[in-house]
Amino acid sequence: MSIQCPHCHSHNIRTKDSAKKVGQRVGSAAGTATGIAGAMQGASTGAAAGLVAGPIGSALGSLFGAIIGGIVGGTVGHEVGGRIGEQIDETYLDNHECLDCGNSFHV
Ligand SMILES: [Zn+2]
Repeated sequence: MSIQCPHCHSHNIRTKDSAKKVGQRVGSAAGTATGIAGAMQGASTGAAAGLVAGPIGSALGSLFGAIIGGIVGGTVGHEVGGRIGEQIDETYLDNHECLDCGNSFHV
């Protein structure tokens, strides 16, 4: 199925995905923060276990946990935020733009 501009009937159309991009950015940031916070909570357990390997092992364990938590949280947040943004684009916004006449329209 190809989308056509309702104004000039061009097939030269692109999707803007503005809400999707914002959602991905916000989701990434929120997910990273949540992931690090969650990892910090788990870090005390990890630090206690790391004490067996000495204070350096304990510090490395906490740091490693926070990095992994941040990366995983950021990735999941990016995905979830993007999905929500996509729904907003498709449902509420004029997500399509004609590259020939500049007309924005909703499909
Ligand atoms: Zn057009």
